Amino acid sequence: MSFLAAGAEGGAATPAWAMLAYLVAGIFFILALRGLSSPATSRTGNRFGMAGMAIAVITTLVTHSIANIAEIGIAIFIGAIIGVTMARRIAMTSMPELVAGFHSLVGLAAVLVGWAAYLNPGAFGLLTDGGAIGPVSKIEMGLGIAIGAITFSGSVIAFLKLSGKMSGSPIMLPGRHIINLGTLAAILVLTAMFAHTPGADANLPFIVALTIAAFIIGFLLIIPIGGADMPVVVSMLNSYSGWAAAAMGFTLGNSAMIITGALVGSSGAILSYIMCKAMNRSFISVIAGGFGADSSGGGNGEVREQRPYKQGSAADAAFMLEQAEKVIVIPGYGMAVAQAQHALREMTDVLEEKGVEVKFAIHPVAGRMPGHMNVLLAEANVSYDKVFELEDINSEFAQADVAFIIGANDVVNPAAKTDKSSPIYGMPVFDVDKAKQVFFIKRSMGGVGYAGVDNDVFYMDQTMMLLSDAKKMVEEIVKAMD
Ligand code: NDP
Repeated sequence: MSFLAAGAEGGAATPAWAMLAYLVAGIFFILALRGLSSPATSRTGNRFGMAGMAIAVITTLVTHSIANIAEIGIAIFIGAIIGVTMARRIAMTSMPELVAGFHSLVGLAAVLVGWAAYLNPGAFGLLTDGGAIGPVSKIEMGLGIAIGAITFSGSVIAFLKLSGKMSGSPIMLPGRHIINLGTLAAILVLTAMFAHTPGADANLPFIVALTIAAFIIGFLLIIPIGGADMPVVVSMLNSYSGWAAAAMGFTLGNSAMIITGALVGSSGAILSYIMCKAMNRSFISVIAGGFGADSSGGGNGEVREQRPYKQGSAADAAFMLEQAEKVIVIPGYGMAVAQAQHALREMTDVLEEKGVEVKFAIHPVAGRMPGHMNVLLAEANVSYDKVFELEDINSEFAQADVAFIIGANDVVNPAAKTDKSSPIYGMPVFDVDKAKQVFFIKRSMGGVGYAGVDNDVFYMDQTMMLLSDAKKMVEEIVKAMD
């Protein structure tokens, strides 16, 4: 929405009070990011973000005369209704695909604003004294359109892969690195030629070609990336969408968009880096794609050897949990699917009443989006001081009586440490094998985690499989403890 409003720059210099308001909005966005860095302060962070966006949008609307306020009001209203409805209806487990879908809209908006500025430069204040768009504006415009188009088509593929409408397995084209590098080089050359060529008739083919090439490269960059790397892709596309907005901010001369775009772009890039570190993967290898080519994508139905395992009941688990001194709970995607967080909180309360120490261990890529488990546990009022990150708690499994795995799988798979051929090799995982007793809740022995691989933890001597829906099993455990 702010793209459109800002699009009516009209060439007039931004008044000093508006520059100040944009600066205040920028400070609010920084405070928002600061707040969002911890579950305890995330609500406040969100409010700062909303306030900053309100200041930026209102300032832009007030300082631009060409835009039709009624039309913008209707567009904001329709967008708000769609946004609120989607946010209310979306299941927490589908959040990553929703985020990918929203990123695609940011990319598309950047492309449309760039094209609108190209077709109607006078309204955007882009005409120089000679009556043409200056070369620097054209470079900003070309790069903004290119990054926007890459963000759009890349996000659409990420959305299709995450929502299961397209296979999560990497699609590897022969010679893809050469094709990709060639297309990226072509986009840069086309942008330079577009900037260098005066006259709309003469430079039109270059902007058309660079837009098409950018749509294609977005598609090509994401199809070889396997399901297990999708978290990084979503956060990388988030970063791209920020840079696309920043580039458009330069085109429109809107400092709020430059600040916001740069904040989104750099925070997305930092998050991608942190996630790569958490999965022990190099950023370049993620971007190059092909990770998990043999088995990623949420289970591929491979036939696995039958190995002996122990199965237990809720009563067995209740008995042993009550005897324990220290229990570490490892939640994962299955807890989110089953919505078992409230039952889990109840189980924690009962155990604590009986003097058992309970801690929660959160892997950085547990679930299907960064912070997925933290959000669910917060929703169930699990106190933040019981929730620990991988590096802070991993050494405690040796002293734990019980590792209680609920709907997690890949994040406890020791193949990540030992099996070089495994698609998750190199990802740091919880050392659950060091705990005296392991309970593993999942629905069946056939189901696999996101990376689609078998897990040796199922077959360890100290492991008891609790095969059931996570919520149902935890409720039965609580009942058995009563
Ligand atoms: P996994 O996807 O590895 O495993 C999920 C487990 O939950 C399976 O064992 C499944 O087995 C079980 N399960 C599913 N539904 C239920 C249910 N209703 N009740 C009980 N169990 C259930 O989850 P993790 O959290 O361990 O790992 C996350 C994976 O997702 C990683 O590979 C990560 O890279 C990837 N990923 C992470 C993202 C992020 O940002 N966090 C985003 C996208 C992917 P069964 O079917 O037998 O029940």
